[in-house]
Amino acid sequence: MSLFESPFFQDAYSQLESAGTKMNMDPNVLERLKYPKRALQVSVPVRLDDGTVKVFEGYRVQHNMTLGPGKGGIRFHPHVSLSETAALAMLMTFKCALVGLPLGGAKGGIKVDPNDLSRAELQAMTRRYTTEIAMIIGPDKDVPAPDIGTDGQTMAWLMDTYSQLNGYAVPGVVTGKPIAIGGSLGRAESTGKGVVFCINFAYEKLNKKITNSTTVAIHGFGKVGVPAAEDLDAQGAKIVAISDVSGAIYNPKGLNIKECVSWVKERKLLRELPGVEHITNEQLLELDVDILIPAAIDGVVTKENAHKVKAKIIAEGANGPLTHEAVDIITDRGGLIIPDILCNAGGVIVSYFEWVQGMQMFFWDLETVNTKLHDIMKLSFEKVWVCKEKYKVNMKQAAFIASLDRLQGAMRLRGMWPG
Ligand code: GLU
Repeated sequence: MSLFESPFFQDAYSQLESAGTKMNMDPNVLERLKYPKRALQVSVPVRLDDGTVKVFEGYRVQHNMTLGPGKGGIRFHPHVSLSETAALAMLMTFKCALVGLPLGGAKGGIKVDPNDLSRAELQAMTRRYTTEIAMIIGPDKDVPAPDIGTDGQTMAWLMDTYSQLNGYAVPGVVTGKPIAIGGSLGRAESTGKGVVFCINFAYEKLNKKITNSTTVAIHGFGKVGVPAAEDLDAQGAKIVAISDVSGAIYNPKGLNIKECVSWVKERKLLRELPGVEHITNEQLLELDVDILIPAAIDGVVTKENAHKVKAKIIAEGANGPLTHEAVDIITDRGGLIIPDILCNAGGVIVSYFEWVQGMQMFFWDLETVNTKLHDIMKLSFEKVWVCKEKYKVNMKQAAFIASLDRLQGAMRLRGMWPG
């Protein structure tokens, strides 16, 4: 598949074009942002437990590094492709620029279902992938982090492999590390926490309060969905539906979130949870709720099902869960969308804190992390809201415009080499 072929890349590209046109962007800057700066494809041979060798496709794409080192996760998923990785790298550029980080946008991944591999195979694959991309990553070059299918353990193997190649510990090469090897307090729950901050800011703007009649549906009860559910539950909201790959569960009176969290922490599927009504993931997306959080994967709300989505507020916890046609359909009927590059930026913001703490060798307490996270999210939300009013556009376009404005300023100042 070529760089531009995937629907996801096309979607990111058309959002870039439409925001660029709305804000009357310098066409030369817009032209440069349509292409990733660098894309590396690697083969990752792994000796499986049965002695045979299997080769996996891996990628690392750096979209733009005007503002600083590349930043973005590594995804282990069967749908990973060069084009999807490029789209995600592009979104990282806009996300980091929007929330004011001194970082560019990158993304990596391996086309694999990590559930098919043993721990030893996963470790071997991660280490070989790291070796293959080592030439373009590093604390000053490009700093990976977890994404779908990867976690703190993956980052620990990546950091160790990179450190072995260098002969000394290089914690700054990745973020999302376990605390014991230089991770930041609060990183694990930061994306979900940021999603809930954004929901709270939106409620303030709408002069509404979260009460025990505020209904919430969460598509994807994982790294983002779980902490978001816990925070909303603590605020008294009624979480009526959650889902995982096996299906969704529903209780109009509100689910017992603590029970659900311990169920999934034991690696059990929601399909097997007794005493609740079981529905499909599609039905969950269409529930008549106050808040819908799509926190699983891209492209779950498209022009096919957008007219059936009834939620008043949609907080994009995942990257690209709504296509741009879906965004238009939902905003036209008055729905408020909190766009991914704002809504799920809590993860990369605390990744940035981890990188800074690592470089200073001075670690902050949880309260400092969460207060700083809150303040950056608040400032960024305000910036997007102001753009929405100024340009009379939806939140998605407003977020792109606010981000492109910062990027354009920096790219023009740095100029092009050779000019
Ligand atoms: N994978 C996350 C994202 O899409 C986090 C990236 C990071 O922390 O660098 O934002």
